[in-house]
Amino acid sequence: MSLLDIDVREKAFGKTIVLHDIKLSLDDSQAAVLLGPSGCGKSTLLRIAAGLDKQFSGSVSVKTGQDGNTKSPPVAFVFQEPRLMPWLTVSQNIGFADGAKYDTGRVNGLIADVGLTGHAATLPKALSGGMAQRVAIARALYTEPRILLLDEPFSAVDAFTRMKLQDLVLKLVEQRGISFLLVTHDIDEALYLGDRIYVMGAGDGGIQHDLSVDVPRPRDRRAARLAELKS
Ligand code: ADP
Ligand code: MG
Repeated sequence: MSLLDIDVREKAFGKTIVLHDIKLSLDDSQAAVLLGPSGCGKSTLLRIAAGLDKQFSGSVSVKTGQDGNTKSPPVAFVFQEPRLMPWLTVSQNIGFADGAKYDTGRVNGLIADVGLTGHAATLPKALSGGMAQRVAIARALYTEPRILLLDEPFSAVDAFTRMKLQDLVLKLVEQRGISFLLVTHDIDEALYLGDRIYVMGAGDGGIQHDLSVDVPRPRDRRAARLAELKS
């Protein structure tokens, strides 16, 4: 069994079938990307994967810890928009899962990890879009997930910020051994981030290609890119 197994026989909204016959799995420390144009059903699939939508035929199973410990939620979600609580500080937003009794030490560590040192007490309205998304990433990591689901997390930021955030996410998940499934309509992004790329897009709600073979690891591509830049 994989870390996450998604098997959607059919998902419909009313009479419209949006997804069908989708089998997708995520292994340990894997970077999977679901690529496809707007409207093809990516967000719907990710919501199903996260357990946010149970109105479908099929199954989603998440492997729990070997010791049977299911206390910490294994799956965390990052949306396109940061969805921060505007009345809470950066720290309070990151520790949100624990409310007022959040672990200050761990929150401060995450603030440093996402490059927001000095902004612990800042309110969301004073943050740029990229900074706010860093907070959303830290908030997801605070719950110590084994799986991170990201729905077009970088599409609302400019291209420079996007590159920084892509590398930040790669670094943070590699350090922690987290697997992610990221949804995007950006082909370059899919190739840059994915070990395995699932392509949707003929408008029939299924997976067209599973490019799981011969795609080098992101860090190998990054190393090659850096070597190119240096030569
Ligand atoms: P993507 O994320 O790939 O852009 P979505 O999963 O958001 O696509 O949507 C897939 C299709 O399902 C679209 O045609 C959309 O209009 C439809 N859809 C999504 N959510 C709902 C909903 N709650 N009710 C009805 N139709 C929906
Ligand atoms: Mg979407």
